[in-house]
Amino acid sequence: MKIHEYQAKAVFRRAGVAVPEGIVAESAEAASAAFEQLGGELAVVKAQIHAGGRGKGTIEEVPEQHGVQLVRSADEAARAAAAMLGHTLVTIQTGPAGQTVRHVLVEAGCRIARELYLGIVVDRNAAGPVLMASSEGGMDIEEVAARTPELIFHEPFDPSAGLQSYQTRKLAQKLELAGPSVRAAEKFMRALCRVFVDCDCSLLEINPLVVTDTGELIALDAKMSLDDNALFRHPELSDLRDLAEEEPAEVRASQAGLSYVKLDGNIGCLVNGAGLAMSTMDLIKLHGGQPANFLDVGGGANVDQVTEAFRILLDDKSVNAVLVNIFGGIMRCSTIAEAILAAYESVGFNVPLVVRLEGTEVEQGRRILADSGLDIIAADGLTDAAKKVVAAAT
Ligand code: ADP
Ligand code: MG
Repeated sequence: MKIHEYQAKAVFRRAGVAVPEGIVAESAEAASAAFEQLGGELAVVKAQIHAGGRGKGTIEEVPEQHGVQLVRSADEAARAAAAMLGHTLVTIQTGPAGQTVRHVLVEAGCRIARELYLGIVVDRNAAGPVLMASSEGGMDIEEVAARTPELIFHEPFDPSAGLQSYQTRKLAQKLELAGPSVRAAEKFMRALCRVFVDCDCSLLEINPLVVTDTGELIALDAKMSLDDNALFRHPELSDLRDLAEEEPAEVRASQAGLSYVKLDGNIGCLVNGAGLAMSTMDLIKLHGGQPANFLDVGGGANVDQVTEAFRILLDDKSVNAVLVNIFGGIMRCSTIAEAILAAYESVGFNVPLVVRLEGTEVEQGRRILADSGLDIIAADGLTDAAKKVVAAAT
């Protein structure tokens, strides 16, 4: 689960990670009042969406407006907020469709001496979290990693002991920090590593982390993703979920207890088990097709869930054919067969349907489908199923 910059910064502030003062606004008037309340000469109005690249991104309806804007008066703050709110921000991370801006963060302007980069992810090789730091802050870090990987420094740390002092000193030296910034960096990095562990994050990224003209370190940007599997331990963090930022079909699927990820192809897939769902997508691709989604109905799905899964698939206008691939272990093939009939009745199939069933109660399942008289293409085995659905979709 991703959260907004302003929410991540609130978590940081409570944990002793330095962030600028800021106020969230949902209207131009509120943005103007926020500028006054901050009381400085310089502020920044920042569009809040679940994607980065806002500074270079543009508002579709007001092309000269970017998603991050320096302002010097309450009027300017109001104008920038008005140009962003309710409009669509397109950045390299949102894709061409962009994302609607529903809140802005009005933040105290910061005097920037240097822009650094800090990130924390789980490193599967090290089997633990790793802190990454770079002097090349404020830039696209993927590009730095591709062109000058030697400028990104890695420090794996133990989740229970946290980042050690010698590690922060090593990084401070590599980042060429001096004077009071060395101590500031130690406090900052250790607090950040603690947040990563305490909140069960899957990603924390600060780009840029700035060194101010007085040597302080402040997080100017904040990206935080939480591990969904650990959210039950953090009710206060789960409350930060913003459904408006998520793909509507994925929200609908998660409410029905289905794991669904929308993709760009035209073959809808309904499969039980994540591994089988992955291999089904591989086979479709191998035979020249493109999957429209990943969908795992799970081991114990009932008729209602499977019917809802079909509705979600058939609501996707790019779907030209559907492949049902079920290996009945806990799931009974007869349940799937009944769900197919129920879905036919309640939503109607307007595209060809290929079904491959195997496993528990497969005979009953096949019989239910055959007796229904519905126009279903039966498949024998994975390859046959993939070939038939690719042919049906083209
Ligand atoms: P994004 O990564 O989505 O483009 P950032 O929060 O990194 O958004 O902001 C883009 C740039 O705007 C930063 O690199 C920084 O130069 C500037 N900026 C952001 N917040 C502030 C601030 N509070 N004061 C001064 N400059 C800022
Ligand atoms: Mg940034």
